[in-house]
Amino acid sequence: MTMTDRIDEILASIDDAKAECGRTDEIKLMAVSKTHPYAAVEQAVKCGLTLFGENRVQEIQAKFPAEHAGYELHLIGHLQSNKVKKAVAAVDAIDSIDSLRLARKVSDEAEKLGKVLPVLIEWNTSGENSKSGFTELADYEELLAEAQSLPGISIRGLMTIGPLTDDERQVRQAFARLREIAQWSGKEFPHLTFDVLSMGMSQDYRWAIKEGSTVVRIGTAIFGRRDYQ
Ligand SMILES: *Cc1c(COP(=O)(O)O)cnc(C)c1O
Repeated sequence: MTMTDRIDEILASIDDAKAECGRTDEIKLMAVSKTHPYAAVEQAVKCGLTLFGENRVQEIQAKFPAEHAGYELHLIGHLQSNKVKKAVAAVDAIDSIDSLRLARKVSDEAEKLGKVLPVLIEWNTSGENSKSGFTELADYEELLAEAQSLPGISIRGLMTIGPLTDDERQVRQAFARLREIAQWSGKEFPHLTFDVLSMGMSQDYRWAIKEGSTVVRIGTAIFGRRDYQ
């Protein structure tokens, strides 16, 4: 199968999942290009994709040009504080804000560059220790309460990674939790926006769509298996 065929298949499957739950709103397809060469990104752009996700700042710097012509690049992996400055300069958005400390630092660095960076707040909805993200409502609330005094960032919504299981009930429960947190946030902090729900990857994006996902992050199903050598 060519990349065009694989992308067409995913787009059709997104439409099917939407139809099955009666959704008519737009769902964005983010191509997760980590470990794949820039040529694969260019090929995906030719196939019409305009949104890319990468996990590591170092890989972004080595792989991507400074100008992203015809597409947007988001950081979707855990960001260490010593890499914030480089990250803010290299990406169009950060979808993995997992602490108040990180939010402050990103805002500070963005301000220095005269930018307002769109961000998503990451929740650990699976309880798996290997995953980043908020687990406590109190910590998360503290960030939302301070958000208005962080002029370098603009909160757009939430992000999560589903649990590592093929149990539909368990996976959908995690995605439903993210949706509920976003709904609660919108009520408690009506001056902020929580429109974006980034959830669902190659194995579970159909379930994520049924739980309200607005952005699915697909790597393997577009680019093939990753080789970490
Ligand atoms: C790698 C990765 C993806 C893509 O995963 P696939 O299973 O290859 O589709 C999505 N989101 C995040 C945060 C990732 O790290």
